[in-house]
Amino acid sequence: MQYNSTSDLTENAELIKRIKSAIVDVPDYPKKGIMFKDITGLFASHQLFKDTIQALASEAVSKLGFKPDYVAGIEARGFIIGTALADELGIGFVPIRKAGKLPRDVVSESYELEYGKASIELQRDAMPQGSRVLIADDLLATGGTSSAAEKLIRKQGSKPIGFAFVIALSGFASRNILKLPIFKIVEY
Ligand code: AMP
Repeated sequence: MQYNSTSDLTENAELIKRIKSAIVDVPDYPKKGIMFKDITGLFASHQLFKDTIQALASEAVSKLGFKPDYVAGIEARGFIIGTALADELGIGFVPIRKAGKLPRDVVSESYELEYGKASIELQRDAMPQGSRVLIADDLLATGGTSSAAEKLIRKQGSKPIGFAFVIALSGFASRNILKLPIFKIVEY
């Protein structure tokens, strides 16, 4: 598929409607006060998932003006979005994992969660240094996870060039920690 024009707004409005009706809101999960967006219904629909990935690929490439070298997906739902996106773009995929899961030499980055800290890791030789990398996850909330992923890719010696999400939640002040372009399909 060619990604040389901005996506059709009418088609996107239709897609946004379909995605929204596939998402289930789960109140107070995993903690009280969090409205969890369950997107397993999106993964279960072959056509909807395919259309979503194509729209995200088109959005990213038409706005970037070039194809990235790799997609890096954040564990775990970022693996599902990221591998499909990499396949659609015809490029490689690299996994960003929670600490302690990758078997060889890694670069690590720690970041603050609502309560406590977490670390993510990337295999040092996951891709050639200097690669242009699109970071993928299912959902953007505070931006903390994505910001740590961006730092991790820089530590590995590659170049983060943007973020791709199916869903972006607005209303998080800390969102402005992400300085690179954000590509998204649905916003709440
Ligand atoms: P953040 O670092 O705050 O941007 O959170 C993003 C990460 O947490 C993503 O990997 C999401 O899958 C997950 N996440 C955060 N908030 C939600 C939510 N309301 N529903 C589903 N997943 C969420």
